[in-house]
Amino acid sequence: EAPVNSPFSWSTNYRHPAEWDQIFAPLSLPDMLAASVARKGDAPMLDFMGRHFSYAEVAGGAERVARGLQSLGIGKGSRVGLFLPNVPHYVAAYYGALAAGATVVNFSPLYTVAELEAQVEDSGTEILFTMSASALLPTALEVLDGSSLERLVVGSVAGALPAAKSVLYRLFRRREVTALPDDPRVIRFSALTDNDGAPIPVAIDPEQDVALIQYTGGTTGTPKGAMLTHQNLTANARQVNIIDPDHDAPDRILGVLPFFHVFANTCVLNRTILNGGTIAMLPRFDAKQALQTITRTRATALPGVPTMYQALLDHPDLASTDFSSLRVCISGGAPMPAELREKFVAATGASLVEGYGLTESAGVVATNPYDGPVKAGTIGQPIPATHIRLLDKEDPSKDAPAGEPGELAVKGPQVMRGYWNRPEADKDSFTADGWLRTGDVATIDGDGYIAIVDRLKDMIAVGGFKVYPSVIEARLHQHPAVKEAIVLGVPDAYHGEMPKAFVTLEDGFEVSGEALAAWLNPQLGKHERVVGVEVRGALPKTMIGKLDRKALRAEASG
Ligand code: AMP
Repeated sequence: EAPVNSPFSWSTNYRHPAEWDQIFAPLSLPDMLAASVARKGDAPMLDFMGRHFSYAEVAGGAERVARGLQSLGIGKGSRVGLFLPNVPHYVAAYYGALAAGATVVNFSPLYTVAELEAQVEDSGTEILFTMSASALLPTALEVLDGSSLERLVVGSVAGALPAAKSVLYRLFRRREVTALPDDPRVIRFSALTDNDGAPIPVAIDPEQDVALIQYTGGTTGTPKGAMLTHQNLTANARQVNIIDPDHDAPDRILGVLPFFHVFANTCVLNRTILNGGTIAMLPRFDAKQALQTITRTRATALPGVPTMYQALLDHPDLASTDFSSLRVCISGGAPMPAELREKFVAATGASLVEGYGLTESAGVVATNPYDGPVKAGTIGQPIPATHIRLLDKEDPSKDAPAGEPGELAVKGPQVMRGYWNRPEADKDSFTADGWLRTGDVATIDGDGYIAIVDRLKDMIAVGGFKVYPSVIEARLHQHPAVKEAIVLGVPDAYHGEMPKAFVTLEDGFEVSGEALAAWLNPQLGKHERVVGVEVRGALPKTMIGKLDRKALRAEASG
């Protein structure tokens, strides 16, 4: 029997048989979409706050985008930016730009002018899709004036969907800008797509052509564009799909994770299109709206980050939400605390599996099995056709000593080609024999389950001793009052650096930082002891909802 038909061979043998490497024939994203349109036609691909868009409608929209872009001279070698939340325009623009032969560059809709401008310049983005929300358009217009960006395409969600207006206003807390500047460089989405929808066919080489440039800090923290080919993205969608024992049943998946990030791009957008399911999309995470959408759409799958599950769990509407349709929650992006997992499973009755991946791997590297043995505190096993290795933390040209933690390194069809215009970063990120270095420190148990024990760059050097923030954070999470925790290295005259903790508290708890430190320190190794615990009302989060260590570090040192 071919391994593709026995999805669980992956979870019982993490050293994949060689056949796994052969099963992902080269496939472009437009061809993947076309195959689903042929199968699903009138079935709903998107459910945008109650309005359905079928596979045929979205594909038709994408073709008109492609044709419109081609008439502006966009094609192979062009970069098309998306500065959009999760709206139907995103999907049409993404697949349309790819059908025109261009490379898509994703930008977080929360970027400031300076952030957007820097990445538009770095990537050489020529044309940028945005929407007429006042949270986005003024930023995009400033970038149009201040950078080499040539054109803006502006969609109007409320115009296309009056019923969504009030919801959008609430989610963005801002109004829609109705008047566009009288500037030939600014085009309405409706004008771009006012054509016959027959793009000139473009030959795509799935393994060579870059579909997506996706900015990430990587292991150094400096933003750089990971180049993901069509094959990287379609392989990862297929890898994620195959391990789901119910992959033949179309999912109704809650699309609240932002599409501009690889986790959602692969696990929500591309994987659902491959599977023929429906994405119940929300432009922005809002716990109340998400819970209502689970009940309304009878959602079957809910990919999310740990902080999102926490927010759902904390919401007063949790009790009145109908979770009976929900079969699986997929947590990734950051470590899932075991206690949170247990509470969420108890409250919803759904299974919750933790996975792991990074931008450079087009999304997913490893996950716990959907209906096999889950090991809490681990990220499960590598997905099919994915090979892993632990490298020596001091010398990445060698393997880590047997049984010791090491830097997780990955090979597989989902691993990026390299960084856009950053040959030096490529040298640091790949070993000489082509393994992607993740910057994450891992251990592997006897069953092949991987545990991420830390990120290399988050290591705190206390004198000559190495301290890992996650160890201290895990300890803090054992205190009933602690809700969220980040430990950073802060300068210390004697040790060079010392760990310091920043926490938020569970509702109804009151405890001082001194009391927490007095509870914590005796439980830690001598060099792990924190200089203090600072109790805060909130900790910074990234757009995708992860605790933002970098922002806190910048704030704490500034
Ligand atoms: P990004 O490129 O933004 O997706 O960030 C990828 C990084 O997030 C990884 O290199 C890990 O450090 C972290 N990460 C993702 N998933 C997990 C997980 N399940 N447990 C621990 N860290 C994770």
